[in-house]
Amino acid sequence: MKISCKNIVLIAGGVGGAKLAEGLHSLKDIKLTIIGNIADDEEFHGLRVSPDIDTLTYTLSGMVNRKQGWGVKNDNYKALSILNKLGEETWMSLGDFDFGLHIYRHLRLLKNDRPTIIANDIAKKLGITADIILPTDDKIRTEVKTKSGWISFQEYFVKNRCSPKIVKLKYAGINSAKITKEAKKALIDATLIIIAPSNPLVSIKPIIEIPGFKSIIQKNKKKVIAVSPLIQGKAVKGPATKMLKQLGFKANSFSCMQIYKDICKSFILDKSDEGLEKQFSALNQNSIFTDTFMTSLADKKKLAKFLINLPID
Ligand code: GDP
Repeated sequence: MKISCKNIVLIAGGVGGAKLAEGLHSLKDIKLTIIGNIADDEEFHGLRVSPDIDTLTYTLSGMVNRKQGWGVKNDNYKALSILNKLGEETWMSLGDFDFGLHIYRHLRLLKNDRPTIIANDIAKKLGITADIILPTDDKIRTEVKTKSGWISFQEYFVKNRCSPKIVKLKYAGINSAKITKEAKKALIDATLIIIAPSNPLVSIKPIIEIPGFKSIIQKNKKKVIAVSPLIQGKAVKGPATKMLKQLGFKANSFSCMQIYKDICKSFILDKSDEGLEKQFSALNQNSIFTDTFMTSLADKKKLAKFLINLPID
């Protein structure tokens, strides 16, 4: 069956998720809803910083620093430099534009607006036509256990540059988190749900493991596809391979995609990983191969088009 009404939901993290989001966002005739990860959020200088949601927002609004894949282009760091002079910890790199966005989010939170409404309002005010919504309005925080104890994900990722060995991961607050009504509706109405090529452990799991989220997505398994963030056993960017290995997974697209086996029907892998096909077919799983390495907007658009035109049954 070809998807006629293209009501697409993308479940995404930050940089890898934003690449595919940009491809989908550039297509006409689809309705795109992006459900982003909030488990990397942390409070800095009294403000809630939401790195994955902000990366999606900056990318789709054209404000992103393309060299980094996150942050705002031509940003300055004057606010951070005065905080540093005043003796605050400034290891989290936040630009002045960034601060403006975080202040705005904080003001809306002070008015008791729901985080998902705030995220989507920011997207709309910055000219994004897709909806960017949150899986939950509750707090979930990814924490990493190292030999010196538990630290927040940003402490591991930014402050310690992913150097400590990870022994365990947890998503604090996930069991009591409730799915937002917006995410629930988007998943039910979707004709296709795409899991972006994002880090499965710290970007996707903290979304799909929300109890009310998982039950819906399991019921809709037939319309779920996942794109591997690994190509030939390597992450394009970031610590995914290292984290997978340290937590006992094999660092290849097969083992990475098995994390989604209960919620997903088809797995999209890079052409260069065709050798893995037998492992999927032994489990009666669909493995589909195409170019998944995205550098230009044309690459992103091509992958997005390929995915939305996949026959699903
Ligand atoms: P983060 O939250 O900013 O780390 O971003 P994500 O979790 O969304 O994305 C990180 C993952 O994106 C990494 O595991 C990368 O391997 C993957 N990634 C980045 N660019 C690409 C790409 O062009 N193709 C594929 N297949 N994966 C990519």
